[in-house]
Amino acid sequence: MNTKGIALNCNHCGAALNVPGGTRFVTCAQCKSQLEVRRGDSAFFTAVLKQARESTRAVAVDLELVRIHNEIQLLDRAWDTACKRHLQRDRNGEYLEPGSALKYVTLSIIVALGIAVVFAGMAAGSVPGSMAGVIGAALGLFFIWRETKARAEYDRAFNSYQKKRQSLLLSLKEAGKP
Ligand SMILES: [Zn+2]
Repeated sequence: MNTKGIALNCNHCGAALNVPGGTRFVTCAQCKSQLEVRRGDSAFFTAVLKQARESTRAVAVDLELVRIHNEIQLLDRAWDTACKRHLQRDRNGEYLEPGSALKYVTLSIIVALGIAVVFAGMAAGSVPGSMAGVIGAALGLFFIWRETKARAEYDRAFNSYQKKRQSLLLSLKEAGKP
């Protein structure tokens, strides 16, 4: 075995290395690559160990980042479609969230008017008048209930979408960490 050392070059940066005979592993003093000393047919050479692993890892990280990005995109697109099931259209075809203040005020006024009509009908001794008021107030209450239910369903769907999105953003951050 050669005890004087073997003159080698780093397989990564080309720096000259002098390693004792019998050495299998060496770290390049210049680029810090971990190298394996190999024996070829007639000469020794070095093979990069750690650098190769790192680039494999970098490719894996890139793939994972792309995968998560795609998943976020798919989730956003799915929500774009799904949210329309919960939204209402106004007269101009614009999408509105259910349970707007304007809607509640309008429906409350309908209920109040219905009750007023009930009392007016009673005062005038008109049974059909009172019945019309009862029907109006009941309809107003029914639509308030329906609006509240639609709002709750929309909120539930939106929160679930947001939760999934947050967790994907978190894994994106985790995957990007060195
Ligand atoms: Zn080197």
